[in-house]
Amino acid sequence: MFGVGSLVLLTLAQAQGAQQRAYLELAQAALLNPVTREELSAAVLSPEGIAGIRELFDQSIGRSVNVSATPVSPELGGESILDAGQIVWIAYPDPIHPVVRETLDRKQDPAKLLEFLETTTDGRWLLTHTGGLHALLYQMSAAPSTNDQRELLDTVLGRMVEQHFKTWSTDPVIQARMIEQTEWRGRYVGFWHIHPPRLKDSSTVEGIEPSMADMQNALQLGQFLTIVFQPDGFDLYDLSPLAALGRVDLSEVEIIRHRSEPWKRHFDTKLSIALGLP
Ligand SMILES: [Zn+2]
Repeated sequence: MFGVGSLVLLTLAQAQGAQQRAYLELAQAALLNPVTREELSAAVLSPEGIAGIRELFDQSIGRSVNVSATPVSPELGGESILDAGQIVWIAYPDPIHPVVRETLDRKQDPAKLLEFLETTTDGRWLLTHTGGLHALLYQMSAAPSTNDQRELLDTVLGRMVEQHFKTWSTDPVIQARMIEQTEWRGRYVGFWHIHPPRLKDSSTVEGIEPSMADMQNALQLGQFLTIVFQPDGFDLYDLSPLAALGRVDLSEVEIIRHRSEPWKRHFDTKLSIALGLP
């Protein structure tokens, strides 16, 4: 998933810094001469391309949080360029994920947690977009909390992590900052995000295919690469045909697939460690 609601793409009039101008030049050049399916496929399936995507899933697993026995790994996303035949994934921090982590860290003190969430924009957003959290924290702040309430809080926080880690979003402030921090060269490809593995007790389940929201975003953005984890590789969905088509239809989407034994061995080990298996 991807939250594009608050995303405003930069326009030339707003571009302040040198890198913002370089970004816009690249993006405009891509409209006239987009990266082709063949170029994208060659870059993604090169040894460097596969290693780069493996690294994205490694990072996501490394940032997992453990709420109710099973770790949940966050979606990552950003924008991408093709530089000398190599695909470069520029990751943008999600505005909500850090608030989710801090909420977990502060759960022992419901009154202070509620105060923390109510005093920031992202905190207030999280309160209104996590079912049951606001009312429960309010109750727990009013009187010493019971065991039942603490158990319920763990359940609500578990759902909060599931819901918000399985979405990657960005906003205009983060996008502008990251654009200025990046050296834009080569050719512009587009937005991307990953669908990480879903971990269930002792098994690894593949990531989910692009959602309706992902495809609607691709209609607006022109491209929204969705890289879906598989236990033995990945499926990279090139959603760019949807913008030309003018409608959402997964059967029109091109998939670049990778499957390999080394990948499977790498993630079997990595996920066993993450799950705490012998
Ligand atoms: Zn998605």
